[in-house]
Amino acid sequence: MSEKSVFTRILEGEIPSEILYQDEHCFVIRDIAPKAPTHLLLIPKKPIPKLSDATEEDRELLGHLLFTAKKVAQAAGIGDAFRLVINNGAGAGQTVFHLHLHILGNVQMSEGSLAL
Ligand code: 5GP
Repeated sequence: MSEKSVFTRILEGEIPSEILYQDEHCFVIRDIAPKAPTHLLLIPKKPIPKLSDATEEDRELLGHLLFTAKKVAQAAGIGDAFRLVINNGAGAGQTVFHLHLHILGNVQMSEGSLAL
């Protein structure tokens, strides 16, 4: 069995981090190193390492994450203008191998760069 991800350790209370929202399938924390004035991480409780590892059985979960991202953005007051980012693989800048969506608000939307 592979080692628990930092996000699973947060979920289980081993690493302190305020959980801003959670339901049966996912939870939300603030990014420890925010790249925008609002920078949240939406994380499935199921530790899928990266999006490209998702299988057919994760289809509903992936839809749930997207819909939850919208609700969380609205609750965070950035519902009118936010950006979602998923880094897939080290070559794309992924550093934590437990699938997560970055929810970014109050970002400069004119910027072309998605580097996170
Ligand atoms: P990635 O680079 O994998 O797309 O994003 C991982 C994100 O997790 C980074 O933006 C990083 O700042 C954040 N992160 C890493 N470790 C922790 C942690 O212990 N607590 C929180 N809240 N965020 C973390």
